[in-house]
Formats: sequence, C-alpha cells, structure tokens
Amino acid sequence: MNVSTLAEVTPLVLDRRADFPILARPIKGKQLVYLDNGATTQKPNVVIRAILDYYEQSNANIHRGVHWLSQHSTDLYEQGRERVRSLLNAARPEEIVFTRGTTEAINLVANSWGRANLKAGDEVVLTGLEHHSNIVPWQMLCEQVGAHIKVAPVTDCGEVDLDAYRALLGPRTKLVGIVHVSNALGTINPVAEMTRLAHEAGALVLVDGAQAVAHARVDVQAIGCDFYAFSGHKIYGPTGIGALYARYDILKNMSPWQGGGDMIYTVSFERSTYADVPQRFEAGTPDIAGVIGLDAAIAYVQEVGLDAIAAHEHDVLVYGTEQLQSLPGVRLIGTSDHKAGILSFVVEGIHPHDLGTILDTEGVAIRAGHHCAMPLMTRFGIPGTARASLALYNTRQDIDALIAALRKAQKLFGTGQA
Ligand code: PMP
Repeated sequence: MNVSTLAEVTPLVLDRRADFPILARPIKGKQLVYLDNGATTQKPNVVIRAILDYYEQSNANIHRGVHWLSQHSTDLYEQGRERVRSLLNAARPEEIVFTRGTTEAINLVANSWGRANLKAGDEVVLTGLEHHSNIVPWQMLCEQVGAHIKVAPVTDCGEVDLDAYRALLGPRTKLVGIVHVSNALGTINPVAEMTRLAHEAGALVLVDGAQAVAHARVDVQAIGCDFYAFSGHKIYGPTGIGALYARYDILKNMSPWQGGGDMIYTVSFERSTYADVPQRFEAGTPDIAGVIGLDAAIAYVQEVGLDAIAAHEHDVLVYGTEQLQSLPGVRLIGTSDHKAGILSFVVEGIHPHDLGTILDTEGVAIRAGHHCAMPLMTRFGIPGTARASLALYNTRQDIDALIAALRKAQKLFGTGQA
C-alpha cells in the first residue's frame, strides 16, 4: 500500500478506538496500552450492546420452539451462521458449525473425521509453528489408532521449510494441519500453496485460523482447505464461541462426536438417527448470545474493512519492528517477510515473565511465555518470548509506550547498553 492510501486508511481505522470502552480505563494509574490481542481482543460497544439487547429483548431457546420469541432467536442465531459464512467466503451456511472456539473445532475434526479415517500406520503432517490446540488433539487420536505425526521444520526466520514440508507428504499422509498465522511469531503461512501440495498427496487440510480472521481477508474457497477453525474472541467477539468451516461433501459424511438434544432426527432406546448438517454437530443448547455477539463483531470488522485493518496493522508492525530492532539487547524472534501484527522478542538479561511484570506497571499489557507453542520455543532454544500483538486500535504511539517501558526495564536490570 502506498503512503497516500495509508494516510487515508490510518485515521479511518484509528477513529474506531473510541468504540472500545475498555481502552479508556486506566491501569495502575496509567493509560492502558493493550498489546495482548493475540490472547484475546477487546470488545467494541456494538458487540457488548448486541449481547445485552439479546438478553433484554430476544432471549429464548432456539430450533425447538413454536412461539414467536423462539423463532426470532433462531433467526438471529442462523443470521450469525450466514455472517460467518460471509467472513470466510464459504460456499454455503451449512458448512459452518458453531463451536466453543478453535480448540473445540479441531477436536471435533479429530474425533469425528479423524477417528473414522485414520488407521494404524497413517500419518498426520503438522508444522513446527502449531499452537498446542493443533498438536494435542492429533496426538491423542494418533495414540488411539496407531497413526503417526510428522512435523515440517521451521527456518531461522520462522517460516515453514517448504521443501521439507513437500518431502514429508506421501501416500500415508491423511491429514495436514497448518496454522494460518502463527500466534507466537506472526508468520503468515502460504496456506493455499501448502493445501495444493497436500491435496496432490491425497490428504485433507485443516487450517487453524485463530490469528488470521481478524487481521486480513480470508477466503476458504481460494485457499481450497477442507477445514478452517477460528475463535470469536480473537475477532472482537465474545469468548466461548467460534466456528468450524468444513467442506459440505466432507461434513455431510461425518458422524457426530457429541450426542444429545438438537442433533437428532429420531430417538428410540434401540437406535437414534441424526439431524442433517450442521445441526448434527451442535448437540445441546448452544451459546446463542455468543453467536449474536460474534455476528455483531464480524459485521463490525466488515464495516471497518479487513483490507483497511490489514494495511493499518501492517504499518504499526513495520514501525514496531524498526523500533525494537534499534533497541540494544533486544532480539526479534520471527522475522519472516510475511507477517501479521505480532512482535515476539527476547531481551538480553531479562526473563520474559519479569519483563511482562515490569511493563504492566507502566500500563503496557503484553504476553510472556511459550504462547502454547512449546515445540516452537524448543526449536529456537528459548523458554519463551515477550509478545506484543496488534489489533485495529493499536497505534504507533502504543509502540512508543512499549519501547519506553522496555528502556525502563533495561535500566532497572542494568542491561541494554549499546
Ligand atoms: N490456535 C492459535 C494459533 C491460537 O492463537 C489460539 C489461541 N491462542 C488457539 C489456536 C486456540 O484458541 P482458543 O483458545 O480460542 O480455542
């Protein structure tokens, strides 16, 4: 994006800061600088209001009711499904299953599709960038069925080694799991290319989109993946709600993994028959208010514009990268040219946890630790990093506050002299 367009985009996005009431609250007497968006994003008024309005005006259980409120509530819930479809550009709303979040979406695929399709000797290929939630469910499954996990290694700049990845794929590969954007390093994986290679080997592909959907336009049809998972709370929506996209022809042949109300067609003590998709995968009363909040959150980012958000966050990322790299004693982990707004770093002589605590006294909220990516930390030979992760409301001034707080921490520890 050229400078004049960025100059137009930046105020457009930054005008939105006032939409997030929590950003106005002081923390420890200081203005909050919230840089922990990879863990969860803050919520705009429209999302908070939508949930409040739902409970005040529309609350009723969905799908089974004959009364007006129940039908109204059902309409709102299904409108949320259509909204998620539009976010991901899925071909049809039936391809969207509501889950508690990314973690539950991946567990659904492992337990339903995985149990039915993986057998002893089969292989699951993952990348070295994966979050624990795209590792552990596959490990549990592989242990049960006698399949194996193969891992595509990560290069020094934090990218998947594509040659090594290609070499891992073969006739035994049944599933490939790829994180779209690494939560620990910010690397954006070439998911369309990786999916094409996996398909050539005859494997299905699950993309973990937890860190992607809020930061750039996602198109599951263009990626070509079979499954795509994300969490509402990382896209300005509520916690406890998220979604799985699954290609219709695959989903309709999958068996339910949780039984109960709402997922059946008929029940007798001898046998039950199951509802069509996606209801087959939504047993029990779902998080209706969560879906309403998620709907409002997606409508919000669509209104701001995902291209504008991506351009703005990229500007802050580039600025933050320059600033951090100019600070003596600071080393960025993850320096790919293809990155979303995540700055992971280590500071010589200061443990990431100490750093996080000191920054907190300055009102700067970051995350410190292994970021649920322990194998990746092992790859880099570090226990963890400090991580600043961006959202649409972050500014260059937030980066300045981070740098000032880092200088203070270095002073306190007597480190950082050039
Ligand atoms: N994958 C990635 C890349 C993530 O960043 C996260 C959350 N940190 C998850 C999966 C898990 O998301 P959730 O806890 O919302 O299920």
